[in-house]
Amino acid sequence: MQNFINIERVESKKRGNFERVKDYKEIYEIKTLSEISEQSDRCVQCGDPYCHNKCPLHNYIPFWLKAIAKNDVDLAFNISNESNPFPEITGRVCPQERLCEGDCTLSDGYGAITIGAIEIAITEEGLKRGLKPKFAQKKVDKRVAVIGSGPASISAATYLLRAGFNVYMYEKEMRAGGLLTYGIPEFKIQKEIVKRRIDFLVEAGLSLHVNKEVGKDISFEEIANESDAVFIGIGSGESNLANVLNENAEGTYLAIDFLKNIQKKHFNETRKSIDVKDKNIVVIGGGDTAMDCLRTSVREGAKSVKCLYRRDKYSMPGSKKEFKNALEEGVEFVYNVALKDVIVNNDNRVIGVNLQKTVLGEKDENKRAKIEIIKQSDFKIDADVVIFALGFSASTPSFLLENGIELNKHGNIMVNEYRTSKNGVYAGGDCINGSDLVVTAAKDGRNAAIQMIKDILE
Ligand code: SF4
Repeated sequence: MQNFINIERVESKKRGNFERVKDYKEIYEIKTLSEISEQSDRCVQCGDPYCHNKCPLHNYIPFWLKAIAKNDVDLAFNISNESNPFPEITGRVCPQERLCEGDCTLSDGYGAITIGAIEIAITEEGLKRGLKPKFAQKKVDKRVAVIGSGPASISAATYLLRAGFNVYMYEKEMRAGGLLTYGIPEFKIQKEIVKRRIDFLVEAGLSLHVNKEVGKDISFEEIANESDAVFIGIGSGESNLANVLNENAEGTYLAIDFLKNIQKKHFNETRKSIDVKDKNIVVIGGGDTAMDCLRTSVREGAKSVKCLYRRDKYSMPGSKKEFKNALEEGVEFVYNVALKDVIVNNDNRVIGVNLQKTVLGEKDENKRAKIEIIKQSDFKIDADVVIFALGFSASTPSFLLENGIELNKHGNIMVNEYRTSKNGVYAGGDCINGSDLVVTAAKDGRNAAIQMIKDILE
């Protein structure tokens, strides 16, 4: 119990930056059982654990730390997989410093427990030993249709299958996984890890329909009529533009289109891939999606890769570890600059960007410093490609409004305890919250499934 005094926090080993930028393999090594056992033994087993409260899934973190500290892989695996539909995925993609690890009691002076790395290693070790997530052995004669196959939908399907429900999932792309498959680059999560989770669901009885767009290849009414409930987990699909001159010129891309295109190229799913090799790339924005675009551009062989951010280094909204990884991989950061417009040649091709310097002013109602443009501070940067990573807006397929599913002013689906305005139709994840974390979508999918099960069986 006092081992945190003698044993320090040990981060996961990373592949060297020169080596790792040559491929798309994950950059962190998975900790061994003896490493996680030793690190877990640092946990002080707080009575009211802040880490558990701060985790959106309210994972039973101290319980699985205690089990793995005693090398009890079975118990740790089962506890971890109970509240979390995919612990090996959240361990890889959660910004732990803002969530569980940020609120670990030991973060104040001793170094937080490496919760994310331990979470990954418990499930990987369990799977290696032949353990599997548990599902119902007996089926219930109830059917739920799940639209979309991203984190919220995978989570909802997991908990519905655990309750013995028949689950039908519809995905418009060729592969399931949504953002986990097409949006988050492979160097953060290998695609076979996502596929492995989906395969567990298929093995448990999930009826998966890829290449089936609801509203186009199959009507919403058809799937709704055949089901006791429908869950919508379609994410928030569209990236925002900057609203500046020439933002649609040849050589400009929206972040999600860029990431999706590169991933589809790796899957051999596209014939028209974006080529950034030997080009000068600028990415507008400073969040995790911007880091993904920057680090992808490095791996695609860009000549130079710059991140242009409106505020200062300390205001960057993304995960610190992703920022550090981008820096190590050779990305150049230019802070306190606002995009004025995109410069194009006579063929409407990008040749640069005009920028203005900024300073941070007083805080606004959201407690973020306002951005002020410095007069006569204009300057330009040469660029062949401009990628906009400025957040996401809701994607609103027509079947929503056609079926009386109400949206709020941002285009997100309105819900009350995951119930939409249409009876029997539920929603969760980014399509109700706007763009948010994978773990938030996982929580929504799980809680919406619990709500559906209750409503259907009552
Ligand atoms: Fe931490 Fe995310 Fe795992 Fe929760 S799901 S314990 S926040 S890494």
